Amino acid sequence: MNDVNSLFHVVQSHLDLAAALVDVPEHIHTILRQPKNEIIINFPVRMDDGRYRLFKGYRIQHSNILGPYKGGMRYHELASLDELKGLASLMTWKCSLLGLPFGGAKGGIKFTPREVSISELERITRRFFHALGSNIGPDYDIPAPDVGTNDQVMAWAMDTYMNTVGTVSRQNAMGVVTGKPVSCGGTPGRTKATGQGVVHCIEEWAERHHFDLQGKKLIVQGYGNVGSHTAALLGQLGVSTVAVGDHAGYLYNPEGFNEHRLLNYVRQRGSIAGYPNAEQITRDEFFATEADIFVPAALENQVGAKEATALKVRLVAEGANGPTTPDGDRVLAERGIPVIPDVLANAGGVTVSYYEWVQNRRSEKWTIQEVDRLLEQAMRQTYQRVMEFCVTRRCDLRTACYGVALERLAHAYAERGIFP
Ligand code: NAD
Repeated sequence: MNDVNSLFHVVQSHLDLAAALVDVPEHIHTILRQPKNEIIINFPVRMDDGRYRLFKGYRIQHSNILGPYKGGMRYHELASLDELKGLASLMTWKCSLLGLPFGGAKGGIKFTPREVSISELERITRRFFHALGSNIGPDYDIPAPDVGTNDQVMAWAMDTYMNTVGTVSRQNAMGVVTGKPVSCGGTPGRTKATGQGVVHCIEEWAERHHFDLQGKKLIVQGYGNVGSHTAALLGQLGVSTVAVGDHAGYLYNPEGFNEHRLLNYVRQRGSIAGYPNAEQITRDEFFATEADIFVPAALENQVGAKEATALKVRLVAEGANGPTTPDGDRVLAERGIPVIPDVLANAGGVTVSYYEWVQNRRSEKWTIQEVDRLLEQAMRQTYQRVMEFCVTRRCDLRTACYGVALERLAHAYAERGIFP
């Protein structure tokens, strides 16, 4: 696929822009343009009706120069090699930007999780993670939740992996995945971490622009883990959510949604469809809703030139990975609407995943207060570092994020060299 909007192609072009600003040897740039390993596994699973269905699973390992591969597992009907290559390389930039001792990876299975039963979901997960075998591990490649997966899926994944290693190694195997339930070695604060990180970035932006968040309006696309937590946490700062959208449609409520009620509804029904006390609107009307902040928190390539032209907001904070196309970026820049890019805005998830991994290695349990404090410090310091890069190199925020990340990777390569 060589479509200009293919996520992999887009991420490569962001890297190319940053490489022009950073002192990086050509061969390092070339290495980082491609993932190191691309694993594809076709595996059969017995479905509830007794028939067997073949699934296609992926794990793309982009870079491990800074530490073990790290990145989510996505269950979605559109999961593809190109998309996951793009998402895996985004993880390399994100982990490097945040100064985490991880590389980048991403994986998933191409199917619609909403259309299978819970027991089928468990069998699909266990069979896939078993098939991955030693391609993952707490010191090698550490998956986490992403679109269509959650803490329950991670608990099955961890349990499956633990049952494949010898009894004596079992306890050390807990860190094979992050985003687990707290009862199974997860950390407090991981579920909301990505949304919390988005909110810290919005707060940083607001403070720098003397923009009082109290009384402001949010529109959010995607009301899953990232979208719902971002909306709820912004709600605590006085921002009301006036329009939401998910795979089933879009809703408008000028008075502001009650985030907790909406979240409970989505947990029970699987989508926002049919939620009372709201007006149904079209996707086009959603993008044209008068508001202050837009958080895309669904999938990639959602904000093209048309959507960017329609938006009536002051700020876009990318909760999702790759939601803005290059055309969308260009239009937003022309209109003077700043974008806090995905690699920075949604990095709270992997940052708290790192805290979970450290706790697993040390057999420790941290409090929510400790996790929250460290996350806020990490997000704010990184935001500051990106702003400095922006000012000194006269570039946009996205290029600055890639630039900071690339500098760190280039130093590691310069000191280690290339084997043999
Ligand atoms: P999720 O599965 O919990 O939620 C996804 C949401 O997107 C759902 O509300 C779904 O209905 C909606 N959606 C799906 N297709 C859509 C469409 N065509 N139009 C509109 N809405 C649609 O997933 P999540 O974990 O919240 O992830 C959302 C985004 O955030 C993804 O891009 C993911 O890669 C990124 N992200 C997630 C995390 C994390 O910790 N979960 C971390 C960093 C980045």
